[in-house]
Amino acid sequence: MKRILVLGSTGSVGKQTLDVLSGLQETHQVVGLSAHTSVDALASQARDVSAEAVCLTGAEATNELRRDIQRLPPGCRLLEGADGLVELVESTQPDVVVCSITGAAGLRSSLAAASSGAVVALANKESLVLAGHLIKEACARSGSVLIPVDSEHSAIAQCLEGQDRNGLRRIILTASGGPFRGWDSAALASVTVEQALKHPSWEMGPRITVDSATLMNKGLEVIEACHLFDVSQDKVDVVVHPQSIVHSMVEYVDGALLAQLSPPDMRLPIRYALGYPARLSSPEGPADLNRLNGLTFESPDRETFRCLSLAERAAREGGLAGTILNAANEIAVEAFLAGRLPFQEIPDVVQDALDTFPSQLDPGLQSILETDAAVRTHSTSILQPSR
Ligand code: MG
Repeated sequence: MKRILVLGSTGSVGKQTLDVLSGLQETHQVVGLSAHTSVDALASQARDVSAEAVCLTGAEATNELRRDIQRLPPGCRLLEGADGLVELVESTQPDVVVCSITGAAGLRSSLAAASSGAVVALANKESLVLAGHLIKEACARSGSVLIPVDSEHSAIAQCLEGQDRNGLRRIILTASGGPFRGWDSAALASVTVEQALKHPSWEMGPRITVDSATLMNKGLEVIEACHLFDVSQDKVDVVVHPQSIVHSMVEYVDGALLAQLSPPDMRLPIRYALGYPARLSSPEGPADLNRLNGLTFESPDRETFRCLSLAERAAREGGLAGTILNAANEIAVEAFLAGRLPFQEIPDVVQDALDTFPSQLDPGLQSILETDAAVRTHSTSILQPSR
């Protein structure tokens, strides 16, 4: 039996992970779960899988569940806060940790997973954007293997598997282009939250859906790819592919392009990570090739969707630039979702932070966490109505 820990189990990837695992009960046992504030969902998941331990990171949510502890299965421990997440990783002896917390909040638990020796199924791309070098060092020390649970990076990992890395020419990340593909700046000026939350091909949480609309998600994925596959930014290209069937490609020096194709469904990269190195069989039947026609590719519009260029700049700068970019973006997206910032000003907030804070090579965890907090304070302050 493989012991599986799912961090961020009530989010979009977390729920889909449990869905995949519900079909793997003969071989995979869920031992622990975590959520931020979704008490009801977490308690119900914990009963479904007979979890040994759960963690809530929201203080009020923890108190609510502690007052009503019989909602958890018998013997299930309740841990609390960011320290509780680390304890959950260290105490449940997992074989696979699925890191599917959203945002920089997932960093410390991803580091704990990378230090545990377990397979790290990483859906939290921010862990790599902020601290890719630390995550990889931790894996090298502990023997943990990092398997991306991001459809593009899973595709790339599959295309690189068993190949001569010296022959790699470039990585080509595909992007759906989001709901505003083809729009110009003038049209984007009046974008509403509702429009931004309607993604054409993927069902995801609100933060990443807005990031897909600004192309920041693709930018974060460029940084993620640089860390995961040890390449510099100039070896990572982005191509817009609205059908989201080709999940990414790898080009070799002889001109061969390898791609991984499948309908847009996160359960494939999740299943790949849970089974690695084995391939687990999917309940879906064979792909319908008739549905795979009409695949198109085009260049991204970097002038209109400036977040992509800003992220590529951060990828080139390295060091703290990813932390600065991500923190400012998280604040800007939160403000947009709350109706306090126009869609087209999200890149302004990010650029201001990149211009204000110096990057620093090889930062330690303390410096990353301090910079993350400082950028959040700064970006929040420039969003005050008095500005
Ligand atoms: Mg992705």
